[in-house]
Amino acid sequence: MDKRLALISEHASPLATVGGIDAGGQNIAVAELAKELARLGFTVDVFTRCCSPMAPEIVQWHPRIRVIHITAGAQDCLAKEDLLPHMDEFARNMSRFIRKQALTYSVVHAHFFMSGLVAMQLKREFRIPFIITFHALGLVRRLCQGSSDGFPIERTRLEQRIMQEADGIVALCPQDSDDLLKLYGADAQKITIIPNGYNPQDFFPIRQELARQTLGLNAEEPLLLQLGRMVPRKGVDNVIRAVSLLLQRHGIAARLLVVGGDSRNPDPTLTPEIGRLQQLATDLGVAHLVTFTGSRNRDELRHYYSAADVFVTTPWYEPFGITPLEAMACGTPVIGAAVGGIKHTVLINKTGFLVPPNDSSALAEKLAVLISNKSLRQRYSQQAISHVKEGYTWARVAQQTADLYDLVTNGRIRKSIRLRTADHQASSLQMPGMP
Ligand code: UDP
Repeated sequence: MDKRLALISEHASPLATVGGIDAGGQNIAVAELAKELARLGFTVDVFTRCCSPMAPEIVQWHPRIRVIHITAGAQDCLAKEDLLPHMDEFARNMSRFIRKQALTYSVVHAHFFMSGLVAMQLKREFRIPFIITFHALGLVRRLCQGSSDGFPIERTRLEQRIMQEADGIVALCPQDSDDLLKLYGADAQKITIIPNGYNPQDFFPIRQELARQTLGLNAEEPLLLQLGRMVPRKGVDNVIRAVSLLLQRHGIAARLLVVGGDSRNPDPTLTPEIGRLQQLATDLGVAHLVTFTGSRNRDELRHYYSAADVFVTTPWYEPFGITPLEAMACGTPVIGAAVGGIKHTVLINKTGFLVPPNDSSALAEKLAVLISNKSLRQRYSQQAISHVKEGYTWARVAQQTADLYDLVTNGRIRKSIRLRTADHQASSLQMPGMP
């Protein structure tokens, strides 16, 4: 197999600083996947939208990885909800780049539905098969976010078209696969479940006292960590409510660190969600217990995870959720909402607990259990470390992805679909990553 790949990630560049509104898990996933695929011997071009006139067209990011900035709309930061009208231009400019450089890709891997539209056009023009990872599905987002979803209603129809034309679809977890099948009627034969991962070089346990010392944190007080993009659907308000309940019901004064935002210092002007949450903490009388740090770099995060007694994440929905993996890799038990990928990555009574989303009362009770039981935390910590090491390193994820590329480029997925149609049989193809 020719080992040159194109990854398209229109709004989520692997070079971006993450933690704000539009830069998070997808940026990390594309970056880490590219690095591990390069390690497997692939030459990788990552195509992403040009957000600044100062950005060079080509960045040689690693010896085998280039990041190519494609002009599509103004060379400025635009919200991802405003990008759809520029995807034709993206496809035209990407096609021009491929022709100019006389490139031959064996497979295109599109990330997010708008990149899928680009991949569809390239397939027509160059006959390159493509894989799509949606990362988030429009219908799920609309069900959870209602009128605050800024994407046009036509997103669903476009996603369905992409599912029909794609040669393979990556679902991030069984819930994602179910949504593809039941909400969209996607072809089961095309779907492979491949999770996201974590990088063991960035995430490993550090002694808690040392981690707290490094960060200048109190050595004694119970410490909860919330880390991620600062958007309402992450349910940080729910965690703040639980901190207040923990104090009222159990007399436990636990500090909550909230890491994330569009700048290194917490700035409500840049990140309005921080302002909303600060106000909530004040209204509930727990402002003295909630610390907003702003965003942090990858190489600092292990200190935050290791310093915490419990990692908390209770989003309304979560296509996958990388942060629980990172927390577990650092040996920190997780209490997560029983949604999306979190339902599968967090093992109940083994690496943490699951609670319903938006249920601060249930969360407070589980927090009380973990905070007051050190030996339980230690047990979960050890179990968490081995659990994620076994199933979720990016190296493993990249190998599963490479196996899928192999299936697609050999036409084995397409052949199996033809066979199935002919035989009217529901026999299922064994694909990598399937449980
Ligand atoms: N992240 C980071 N710095 C921050 C906040 C978040 O590097 O200040 C990273 C975090 O470590 C994780 C990613 O952003 O790797 C968030 O991914 P996740 O899948 O949890 O959520 P998403 O952003 O996809 O909604």
